[in-house]
Amino acid sequence: MGLPDTDTIVTYPAGDLRAEGRVLVASPHGDHLAVITDRTSIHPVDAAWPDQPADAGVLRAGAREYAIRDAVVAATDGDDLHIGSVPVRPGTEGWSFLVAHLLDADAEVGEGDEVELEADAATRRALSIGHTACHAASLALNRALADRWSKAAREDALGSPDFDGIAIASSRIEPSGSVDRYRLNKSLRRAGFDAAGLADGLDRLAASVDSTLAEWIADDAKVRIERVGEDLTDRRTWVCELPHASARIPCGGTHVASLGELGTVGVSFAVEDDGGTPVLVMTTRAGASA
Ligand SMILES: [Zn+2]
Repeated sequence: MGLPDTDTIVTYPAGDLRAEGRVLVASPHGDHLAVITDRTSIHPVDAAWPDQPADAGVLRAGAREYAIRDAVVAATDGDDLHIGSVPVRPGTEGWSFLVAHLLDADAEVGEGDEVELEADAATRRALSIGHTACHAASLALNRALADRWSKAAREDALGSPDFDGIAIASSRIEPSGSVDRYRLNKSLRRAGFDAAGLADGLDRLAASVDSTLAEWIADDAKVRIERVGEDLTDRRTWVCELPHASARIPCGGTHVASLGELGTVGVSFAVEDDGGTPVLVMTTRAGASA
C-alpha cells in the first residue's frame, strides 16, 4: 500500500468520540507504532499551533485493544512520511495531512485492518470545556482592555480591538482551563496599546473579565464549529452566539455546545518577564473549582 494521497477525515469537530477506520499506514516511529487510518475521531495535537493536547483513547483491532499513547499530525508528499513535525504549512498543494495514532511498538496492527477508534469521554469533555472557556475569556479580555488603545486596531467579532489576536504568543488548553501568554512588546505599543500601569491593576482586570464572562454564561450563548469539509486541514471556525453579536475564531479544537456548560469561569493574571519583554499571562479556570 502506498502513502495516503488524501487528508485523514476527522469526526471530532462534530463532537464524535467513536469512529471506524481502515489502517493505511502502520509504521515504527521511535518507541511507538504509528497508525494512520482513513478516518478518525481522535483529536491530534497540532504541529503548527499546539494549543489543545491530543485526546486520550483506544484503538481496537478485532478482539485486541490498544491505548493511544499520543496522537500527532503527519504529512506526506507521496515520497516521505513526516510524523509529528511537518515541514510545510497545512493545506500545501501536493501534500496530504494525516492523524498518526501512536501505540506501543508491539501492537499487532497492520495495513488494511479495519479498526475502531474511541476517545476517552471524560478527557475530551474536560479539554472541550477548557478550550471553550479559553476563547470566551479571550473575547472578554479584548473588551476589558479596549480603552487602552489610542489608535484604530483590528477588531474582534464584538467590535473591540483584538488584543488577543494581536498580542498572543502561546495558548495552552488544559482540562477545564487554559493558560494564554501575551507579549506586551514594542510593536504592540507602536500599534497604539498603552500597557502603562497594567501590572498594578491585575485584580481589577480579572474582575472585569469575570463579570463579562458571567453575563455571557448566564445567557447560555450557543457554541458550534463551522467547517468547509471533513478533511483534517479543512478550515474550521468556532462560532459563539453572544447576546449582541456572533463571535467567530479560527479553531481546530473541540468544544462544548454552550457557554452554560462551563459553570463558573474565573481568570487570574500575572506579568512575567521574557528577556526584557513583559508578558501578560491569563490563567482561565472553568467549572465547580473556579
Ligand atoms: Zn481554539
